[in-house]
Amino acid sequence: MTSTTPFPTGTILGYPRIGRRRELKKAVEAFWAGKISVDELEATAAELRAATRERLVSLGLGRSDSSIPESFSYYDQVLDAAVTVGAVPTRFERLVGADGSVDLAGYFTIARGEGQDTPAEMTKWFDSNYHYLVPEIGPETVFRFASDRLVREVAEATASGYRTRPVIVGPVTFLLLSKPSVGAPDGYQPLDRLDDLLPVYAELLAALTAVGAEWVQLDEPALVSESIDSPRDAVLSATTRAYEALGAAAVRPSIFVAAPYASLDDALPVLAATPVEAIGLDLVKGDLPSGFTTDKVLVGGVVDGHNVWRGDLAAAFSSLESLRGLSPAVAVSTSTSLFHVPHDVDDEPLLEDWLKSWLAFADQKVAQVATLAKGLTEGKAAIQAELDAATDALAARHSAAGVRDGAVRERAASLTAADFSRGDYAARLAAQEEALHLPFLPTTTIGSFPQTGDIRKTRAALVRGDISAEEYTEAMRAEIRRVVELQEQIGLDVIVHGEPERNDMVQYFAENLDGFAVTQNGWVQSYGSRCTRPSILWGDVSRPAPITVEWSTYTQSLTDKPVKGMLTGPVTILAWSFVRDDQPLRDTANQVALALRDEIEDLEAAGIGIIQVDEPALRELLPLKKKDHEDYLDWSVGSFRLATAGVEDRTQIHTHLCYSEFGVVIDAINRLDADVTSIEAARSKMEVVPDIKRSGFGRGIGPGVYDIHSPRVPSIEEVSELIDIALGSIPERQVWVNPDCGLKTRGYDETVQSLSNVLAATRAAREKA
Ligand code: GLN
Ligand code: ZN
Repeated sequence: MTSTTPFPTGTILGYPRIGRRRELKKAVEAFWAGKISVDELEATAAELRAATRERLVSLGLGRSDSSIPESFSYYDQVLDAAVTVGAVPTRFERLVGADGSVDLAGYFTIARGEGQDTPAEMTKWFDSNYHYLVPEIGPETVFRFASDRLVREVAEATASGYRTRPVIVGPVTFLLLSKPSVGAPDGYQPLDRLDDLLPVYAELLAALTAVGAEWVQLDEPALVSESIDSPRDAVLSATTRAYEALGAAAVRPSIFVAAPYASLDDALPVLAATPVEAIGLDLVKGDLPSGFTTDKVLVGGVVDGHNVWRGDLAAAFSSLESLRGLSPAVAVSTSTSLFHVPHDVDDEPLLEDWLKSWLAFADQKVAQVATLAKGLTEGKAAIQAELDAATDALAARHSAAGVRDGAVRERAASLTAADFSRGDYAARLAAQEEALHLPFLPTTTIGSFPQTGDIRKTRAALVRGDISAEEYTEAMRAEIRRVVELQEQIGLDVIVHGEPERNDMVQYFAENLDGFAVTQNGWVQSYGSRCTRPSILWGDVSRPAPITVEWSTYTQSLTDKPVKGMLTGPVTILAWSFVRDDQPLRDTANQVALALRDEIEDLEAAGIGIIQVDEPALRELLPLKKKDHEDYLDWSVGSFRLATAGVEDRTQIHTHLCYSEFGVVIDAINRLDADVTSIEAARSKMEVVPDIKRSGFGRGIGPGVYDIHSPRVPSIEEVSELIDIALGSIPERQVWVNPDCGLKTRGYDETVQSLSNVLAATRAAREKA
């Protein structure tokens, strides 16, 4: 028996769960700190859910038509699915009760680790800056319906007079995002367990029906991605098996499969051939399907859930009208969950009105959905005024001062191939050796030193106006002096200033470049209780004045050793901001690159001989479809080269990337043409080294020898072992010695001990050579 209630005409795929004032973050962290009880935490969460439902109704969703998604999470939606089906890693077995459930404290323990038990691995969610927890599935995993949290939330909604639509990661995506548990046999894939998992989902669907759910949303973004390890055939046949089985369940709500982040492509007809009742298409990132018709409800994701623009509402409505050519039943939705965007533009008193009129955060997007839904039911004329208002705002945006800056555009238009390339590497290397006199196995760090409470307090005091700019500068200089002295004592060869003046590696540059705005309350969840406040890149980008030059030259004045200037690269600045949607990313990236190029040339002219341009997000923006990879690599690598190619041969360009799947991006790293690249490697015990060797990579490379993700101090022997692995495979003149990443989240004691051990191991290796 399935419900026959129609799909709501307008809905959203999910809503921010952290709270307008980050109430959930604060409550969860207070619970971790032992300051509030589990009951108090649950009460805060229930209040947030109640406030969300009420808010969504006031913005135009229906109270009882299943249009409100029940999409809360205490930490992560993938972890939620894992505990729902009883998939707890074996090292956390002690947390599991007789019925397979884990309590809230146990749930957080899986996410955060405990003692020797490392937390579930974290990785990026599709092409976003959100991180999910990777489930570990092996032949030993016993699936069972172990947590009824989602069921209780639906019951809570029903009891307070709502009929909401529960949301959970679908079974195919759940398994595709999982990794085999430790000890799983070779060739084993979590997807092998699909048939064991499906009955648990069926049980969940029955339980949701029992508490009043008429529709359920199963999120299947893995179906749109080509960056999934499993062969496409296996993915498609799993889709068929999963939805044939769930469709055949005796008691279930109607099933809505949502596929955000790109086109479903060949998965669309496959899904449409199963008994599911509705399919969600991302029509912002993905294309309108062609040559396909269906009698399923097609839910057009035409309101961008992943960016903050008010956008072209009339065009969105036209897409929905086109969708009507494919199915008699069309509804409107956001392209993705709204948890990628902040809550409310009206909550930004410091943003200029003109900018606000171009923006839509979660609440404004819900209202847009409600408008488009009204258009679908009552006809276009009924919403013409709203469509026109959006069109007018778009036109105003197009012609507004700063959106197009003649000088910036002229400069970008006159670029030639020469602007994107440096001279021959051999000549550069010779010039750099002569200029820098670095020892064999040069040592350095990735840039930041511990951001102490004092540093943060000083910054907050500046923002409040309690101290003057001069006082702030002096406080940061004192920190720089301390960090330089420390590095000299430890014996590092290439000195950094420690980045104390930066609140965040992207926001700092956004605040100092034209074309960006920063928000006050625009927090979005990055992972767990961690939030970031992405800047809004709305106009043509230029650099009104040098940004880092004084900090770097001050640092150089304190030491005879070379100081490394430190910048964030164009791709990372784009990836961690909300980026304008009215021109290709390539053009925006080149503008940022030109601003950085000026900064780099100024650093060089001021006597800074080594400049690092960090690109930790290079991998993250890699498109989900393979056909888009080459274009992406071309513009992303191109913007890095444009930023860095203006320097003399003698100036050494470094870059830093934060991950160890070197194999995936080796081609990109090669094309960046940096003189030295540092990457994460310690955590994986130099797993990347064979890839580096195989690739024949010929420039400087610093595979990390110190895992900075935990306070643990690596021993001299441990570091020596890692250095030996690197030297065993990579020509020794190429090898640099450095930590995995920046030290800003570490404490001073462990940092000093760890770096001292790194230096001791390096000296030993130099003596052996
Ligand atoms: N230079 C930055 C730091 O050291 C790099 C951070 C990163 O790669 N995410 O903190
Ligand atoms: Zn890093």
